[in-house]
Amino acid sequence: MIADLYVIRKSGKYKGKYTYGLFATQFVPKGTIDGFFCKKCGYYSKEEFAKLPKKKRLFIIDHEVVQENGLYSHFCDKRMQYDNHSCNANVLSSGKGFGIVVRDIKKGEEVTSDYRMNGEDEVHFEGGCKCGSKDCMKDTTFRPPASKKLQNFWNRRINAAVKRIPYVKQPLKRKLLKEHPELSYLFDKKAK
Ligand SMILES: [Zn+2]
Ligand SMILES: [Zn+2]
Repeated sequence: MIADLYVIRKSGKYKGKYTYGLFATQFVPKGTIDGFFCKKCGYYSKEEFAKLPKKKRLFIIDHEVVQENGLYSHFCDKRMQYDNHSCNANVLSSGKGFGIVVRDIKKGEEVTSDYRMNGEDEVHFEGGCKCGSKDCMKDTTFRPPASKKLQNFWNRRINAAVKRIPYVKQPLKRKLLKEHPELSYLFDKKAK
């Protein structure tokens, strides 16, 4: 499930082919919960995955991170697959089952996440990461676990964004709490 804040658009060209990314259709403030792995999201079983057309399989391998159970995700909304990597992403995985905007996103700005947070597999960036952020690792391969410094970098951003949750518009609040009522404390101003 992803909030209806983004569209898929061409983001550039790579080896003569267009690449795509996610772009904000409006201003999205820091602290916005923008997506979560909902009941309609799921996984391809190994058999289902093998039966997909090759093009689709390759797309998933490129865009999706293998989950802890060794299976590829099957998202309920394809926009969830289109966020590109940045070493200084504006959306991070909160560790609580949802993604959170950690820096205000302007209307029209590309929405990025940090692939290095995903799972225990190596992440490959062909020709070295070219995300262009000033903190870019520029490496071709990232091998987990992340350094303490990198983990602190993520945690600082996530914690600051989580504090903003009660104070910004939350398009997914009702849907998230329906599936995860235990997260209601995050929307409570008094708790902070
Ligand atoms: Zn979903
Ligand atoms: Zn980078």
